[in-house]
Amino acid sequence: MRVAVIGGGWAGLSAAVELAKAGTRVTLFEAARQLGGRARSVEIQGQRLDNGQHILIGAYSETLRLMQEVGADPDRHLRRLPLQLSFPASRPHPFRLRLPRLPAPWHLATGLLMAQGASLAEKISAARFMRFLQGTGYCLAADCTVASLLDRHGQQGSLRRHLWEPLCLAALNTAPQEASARIFVNTLRDSLGGGRAATDLLLPAADLDRLFPAAAADFIAARGGEVRLSTRVHSIDASFTVAGEPFDRIILAVGPQHAATLLAQQQETTAVARLLADYRFEPIGTVYCGYPPHLRLPFPMLGLSAHGSGQIGQWVFDRGALCGTPGVMAFVLSGHGAWEAFDDRSLLTALDDELAAALNTRLPAMLWHRVIRERRATFSCRPNLLRPSARTARAGLWLAGDYVCADYPATLEAAVRSGLTAAREILLRG
Ligand SMILES: Cc1cc2nc3c(=O)[nH]c(=O)nc-3n(C[C@H](O)[C@H](O)[C@H](O)COP(=O)(O)OP(=O)(O)OC[C@H]3O[C@@H](n4cnc5c(N)ncnc54)[C@H](O)[C@@H]3O)c2cc1C
Repeated sequence: MRVAVIGGGWAGLSAAVELAKAGTRVTLFEAARQLGGRARSVEIQGQRLDNGQHILIGAYSETLRLMQEVGADPDRHLRRLPLQLSFPASRPHPFRLRLPRLPAPWHLATGLLMAQGASLAEKISAARFMRFLQGTGYCLAADCTVASLLDRHGQQGSLRRHLWEPLCLAALNTAPQEASARIFVNTLRDSLGGGRAATDLLLPAADLDRLFPAAAADFIAARGGEVRLSTRVHSIDASFTVAGEPFDRIILAVGPQHAATLLAQQQETTAVARLLADYRFEPIGTVYCGYPPHLRLPFPMLGLSAHGSGQIGQWVFDRGALCGTPGVMAFVLSGHGAWEAFDDRSLLTALDDELAAALNTRLPAMLWHRVIRERRATFSCRPNLLRPSARTARAGLWLAGDYVCADYPATLEAAVRSGLTAAREILLRG
């Protein structure tokens, strides 16, 4: 059996790895000159950086397993740290929550109790909220926005601004007023509601290419598979001929907007094409700033502003501490927001000021910068969003991609899981 995988992001690569491992002849077609899709490396100022700073967490079980399988050791390429949310410049009080290395659920209970910058009443209320979710098996009877869920359960004040809302934005890349509570609760089930290790932050200690795509491509090639870069697939015809070659099965592992175009070309898949054409998207901005090498953060990931505080930056990452590039800071701006209207110069000034406030010091002059705006970073994860299944109405044509994994928002783990599912379905059904 010959399988074509269209798309060399983390979903397509995961599918191709799984198929190659089972001895299936697989050819992966990628339109770009490099692999990785929305999680790829870029060269800036002679350094290997990424199109966007990515955060993984301990709950990314399939991603971690697959990294290990292709020979990209997660212990080497990821820095594991206990979850810490630190907003030193928050007003009226700085906020800090750190989960200690205790067994679950004591890590969460102790972390909440010891959190600085939140009242005892808020802490008790947050613990009650988690207990409520646990009692429901993390299953909401009906979907609503994250903001209404938090309102309904009395989650206000500092813990709302520094814990729930930042977690929502980081995981769903969608503002709490618009994000799906059901998907948010799924992410809480697998992180705060899971074992202690599931809550750990896993921050990349290497560029994204080395985390998975490069090793995955070697793994595929070593098992007789092929990876073709710079090969855009323009159509999927009735005989499954891709780039002039016949295939028995196809996994379409491109983003939802590209899938919509290809799927609209055939009668059987027009319904799913229409569904995907209606998807809305959220941007992510990553601003790299090169400071003199002595500039360091007290923790590699620092919160700059609580949601709705009027500030621009959300997180800043110390790439020096993480990836051995001293002085390089990566600012992250998730989802739609005021930052989109800023030109690069105003953005840099605002972020520089916010970092200075967080560190409570004058910063040395910035040496270089690069602003990367990914306008369609993720689909907008709204309540009751319909998600297609891996199987299409066209026999032999399967879908993979972060948008296919119905339980999760657009994340690396969702992409990996979707790729594995499509590959396993093909292996199971022949
Ligand atoms: C800036 C940014 C920050 C992010 N931060 C995080 C984070 O911290 N944590 C996290 O878990 N997730 C994060 N994400 C989300 C994560 O990167 C995505 O969910 C994931 O990479 C999606 O993978 P995918 O394989 O489904 O799709 P994609 O990565 O979009 O892969 C699709 C591939 O298909 C190719 N393609 C498209 N059309 C064709 C065609 N016709 N022929 C051939 N090839 C084609 C594309 O070039 C692309 O390489 C972030 C995303 C961005 C953009």
